[in-house]
Amino acid sequence: MKRESRNRIELADGSSIAVIGGGPAGSFFTYYALGFAERLGMSISIDIYEAKDFGKIGSSGCNHCGGIVSESLVQKLSVDGILIPREVIQRSINSYTLHIEQGKAIIQTPSQEHRIASVFRGCGPRGCTRQPERSFDNYLLGLCQKKGANIIRGKVSGLEREEQGILVKSKKDTKEYDFVVGGVGLGKKSLNMFKAICPDFDLPKVTRAYISEISMKKEEIGSHFGDSMHVFLLDVPNVTFGALIPKENFVTLVLLGKDIKQETVDRFLETDEVKNLFPESMVLKDSCPCKCFPLINIREAVSPYADRVVMIGDSASSKLYKNGIGAAYISGRAAAKAAVFNGIDARSLKSVYAPVCRDLALDNRVGKLIFFVTKFIQKNSFLKKGLLRTVIKEQNSHNSKFLMSSALWDTFTGSEGYRNIFKRFMSPSLIFNYLRSIFSSAVFSKEMQQHTSSNGIGHLYRNGEVIIEQGTLGDCLYVIQEGKVEVILENNDEEVKVAELGKSEFFGEMGLFESDVRSCTVRALGEATVLTIDKKNFYESIQNDASLAYRLLEKMSHRLREANLKLSNYQEDGYSYQKS
Ligand SMILES: Cc1cc2nc3c(=O)[nH]c(=O)nc-3n(C[C@H](O)[C@H](O)[C@H](O)COP(=O)(O)OP(=O)(O)OC[C@H]3O[C@@H](n4cnc5c(N)ncnc54)[C@H](O)[C@@H]3O)c2cc1C
Repeated sequence: MKRESRNRIELADGSSIAVIGGGPAGSFFTYYALGFAERLGMSISIDIYEAKDFGKIGSSGCNHCGGIVSESLVQKLSVDGILIPREVIQRSINSYTLHIEQGKAIIQTPSQEHRIASVFRGCGPRGCTRQPERSFDNYLLGLCQKKGANIIRGKVSGLEREEQGILVKSKKDTKEYDFVVGGVGLGKKSLNMFKAICPDFDLPKVTRAYISEISMKKEEIGSHFGDSMHVFLLDVPNVTFGALIPKENFVTLVLLGKDIKQETVDRFLETDEVKNLFPESMVLKDSCPCKCFPLINIREAVSPYADRVVMIGDSASSKLYKNGIGAAYISGRAAAKAAVFNGIDARSLKSVYAPVCRDLALDNRVGKLIFFVTKFIQKNSFLKKGLLRTVIKEQNSHNSKFLMSSALWDTFTGSEGYRNIFKRFMSPSLIFNYLRSIFSSAVFSKEMQQHTSSNGIGHLYRNGEVIIEQGTLGDCLYVIQEGKVEVILENNDEEVKVAELGKSEFFGEMGLFESDVRSCTVRALGEATVLTIDKKNFYESIQNDASLAYRLLEKMSHRLREANLKLSNYQEDGYSYQKS
């Protein structure tokens, strides 16, 4: 079944894998491992063991999370052909509002698009209608099932190393696998199960955070919160930051910091900045049908791998205070790549997978430094006011470079690594603008824009609206989320329709490779929702998976072939292009 050569153990045709934990890390591992194996023409089988039923309401179906799917992850998944369906998205977010004791400022997404998805990991909090198809974790498991994975509902109670494999014990049976993947989150019992078979593995360090779901009417959420995630930098002991995340009929409150307790939550809810956001008549304490104090990863695990075993997601290394689902994507995918293309022995995993975990850990060290400085600013109203003034000035100016706004945006939304953010915070122009704002006196207040509820990702274009225009400069790619677009070649006042593209197809790719003007105009055909993919995210995706470049070349070659065919028709028939 599996090949072994000089301590190197590799997956081969017929190899079996057990993934323990069907959260995002387990699902991303499975999805990509099956995809990579398929590309190699190798047939492997994957069983995913999951203790929870994500189709259930309340904590028994929930993985305790704020439910923000970051801007960068939404883009990377789109490029991989995973478009989060509209029904899974509770609300799409296009801005965030920074609150401090002295006022608030709205920071719009740099591209003015709805690029962040707020979701429920399970079916939703107590009191909501049961709709299993709306669960994000269920959706990811469904993708794995479609790729051929087998989902086994139930808890794994023990792991045992055999000479040629690992025994996985559950209530139903005991089965031997060639390779075992641990995406079990942060539960000590499950992690200790892995410690028993991974001699060098040391558990990740954790602290307690807080989540509650505040029940509100959809329209009220629209008028009080808009499509904005609200971030609070308030001087409340032990709270690094708080966030209110609007969903369809709930607002999720998340408090991150050091060992959050009920007294801290009460103190936070009593602040004017939080109370003023809700309807006056609302008693917050009476409106939370679900609340919990889940564990959060604050330091990575040591050696999350051994022969035939790898740990992924929170169980290995996450991102400090943000984008844990994005980190689960990074480690799940990296482990899949290492297992399929390199090997499943400790040495192979150490050389290919461990650097990815180390990179996440290194970034978190810089993150700790950023939050240390934030904490210092948080305690000083003078410095805090300066921060707010800088952001408001940038947001009100037409020719601003949005240095502070974009660095803060990335800090709280998880769109960038902490090292990159730190470099930007250190930029002389940002520091100069900040110092100038500290010593200026005016604080402008900008009222929150009120948005109607939206749950589509990307930008909605009306029929005939131009998305890219021939002859203009552009350096990003677009992925169609919903609807259709037409590609038009303009020539001497005449328009020739070159192609019609639909859901999950992309366009604008030439702008990524050439610093040249757009060769065609692209317009919406009916209503179309289109997501812009930043050059950086695209290149990162290609770096992670070179086969993406192959897919892109395949598509471009197909388009070239179609264009050639049309050209030869044109030469034969005189003029057979469809004129628009
Ligand atoms: C307060 C808070 C807010 C957060 N907000 C966000 C956010 O807004 N956005 C974001 O990206 N991240 C957020 N995170 C982080 C995010 O929740 C995690 O990083 C992410 O869930 C990690 O995914 P995972 O698959 O590694 O683990 P998990 O999501 O914990 O999944 C582990 C799975 O393993 C299963 N399991 C465990 N043991 C066994 C066993 N023995 N047998 C079978 N199954 C088992 C569990 O049932 C579970 O489904 C937040 C975290 C906290 C604590």
